Amino acid sequence: MFNVKSFTGGIHPLHAIHHGKGLSEKCPITVLPAPSEVVIPMAQHIGAPCAPSVQVGDHVLRGQVIGTVRGFVAAPIHASVSGTVKAVENRLVTGGNLVPCVVIENDGKDEWVDTVLQNPIPLDEITAEDALKAVLDGGIVGMGGATFPAHVKLAPPKDKKIDFLLLNGAECEPYLTADHRLMLEESRRIISGVRIIAKILGNPKCIIGIEANKQDAVKAMDEAAQGTGIEIAVMPVKYPQGSEKQIIEVLAHRQVPSGGLPADAGCVVCNVSSAAAVYDAVALKKPLTERVVTVTGTVGEPKNLLVRIGTPVQALVDACGGLSSDVGRVVSGGPMMGIALYDLSVPVTKGTSGVLALTKAQVKPQTATACIHCGRCVKGCPIHLLPYELANDAERNDWKAAEKHNALDCVECGSCTYVCPAKRPITSSIRVAKRQVMNLRRKK
Ligand code: SF4
Ligand code: SF4
Repeated sequence: MFNVKSFTGGIHPLHAIHHGKGLSEKCPITVLPAPSEVVIPMAQHIGAPCAPSVQVGDHVLRGQVIGTVRGFVAAPIHASVSGTVKAVENRLVTGGNLVPCVVIENDGKDEWVDTVLQNPIPLDEITAEDALKAVLDGGIVGMGGATFPAHVKLAPPKDKKIDFLLLNGAECEPYLTADHRLMLEESRRIISGVRIIAKILGNPKCIIGIEANKQDAVKAMDEAAQGTGIEIAVMPVKYPQGSEKQIIEVLAHRQVPSGGLPADAGCVVCNVSSAAAVYDAVALKKPLTERVVTVTGTVGEPKNLLVRIGTPVQALVDACGGLSSDVGRVVSGGPMMGIALYDLSVPVTKGTSGVLALTKAQVKPQTATACIHCGRCVKGCPIHLLPYELANDAERNDWKAAEKHNALDCVECGSCTYVCPAKRPITSSIRVAKRQVMNLRRKK
């Protein structure tokens, strides 16, 4: 175990003074019973949505493929309960879009497909090729919120030598504690997953980075890693420590080039929850059908819940005593990068790390005023961009200038918006600029 220095830039959100994490960090993971009906979206990853492979009336088993991939950058979707397909239709999901979903009526039997193993395959009997195929078959994606298909990440181009496998146990978003609890309660499962991922990548150096506000998790992971060669690094508490580029800077002392990927710096970064899911998919042939979600903020009783994919967010909130009367907004994810939810019937997906209820005072609308050129957004940007310039580019619809100012390197962490004394919606403007720059590039 060793300590590392912080990255340059970044912020200490006020929420994080008390982290908001105190509300749920001591709450052990508890199982939320599967609901009577799950709504499983066919788009739960970056890349092309899956095609539904079942029809109304079909009987399905838990772990059965119900959505097949239509491209390389995609991950199959599995039934999270056994039961009968009630509908295959567009439903509302987080973000406000209507996407094709498979609706399954739960028969309450929880019957798994028969390919799932009772006893895990010993890790030394698993080949890298078989493991990579099992990661694809298991539908594993980045569970920190990025939802990038894991089998794609773990198959970098042949000319990119991977020197470092870096595990993200930072969980730097205020309030969220799902990864914290998983590291504490399932450390051996995570370490086994890391060993499998390392085998797939040709056994690079493995470091698990955990923020210093999770000392119990540091200890648990360090104990579980003994004798494996996997190292535990304790990282200073700073936002966005969990962003790929920052983890690489801090743990591998390398920089991802502008427009590049972690593999360009000889690194692969995975979330600790994803590592646990990799273990299940490879050693037990168990696809991804559930995940840990932190339900916190102004709710009756914050919890870390193990939830079936497709469970309505409302069921999670109900299991935590409901929303308090002073709720102003419910967010999927954390306060910095989360997405506002306007309808709690939307389902939990593979990328849902948290459900956060913020108070009215926390989300009070603020009036944006003119930029006072204080430079705080520049100082806080972990990617060393010029956020105020990018926001100006967006206001002028000058997408060429936005491209020149490296809009596409923005990781949308929200740090610039958070520190801006003029309350300018910088990140939202840059998000628009990124979309327009991508459109420009596609037309070239
Ligand atoms: S949102 Fe983008 S521009 Fe703003 S601080 Fe984060 S990376 Fe920098
Ligand atoms: S933080 Fe806000 S006011 Fe300060 S330079 Fe950036 S955009 Fe302008």
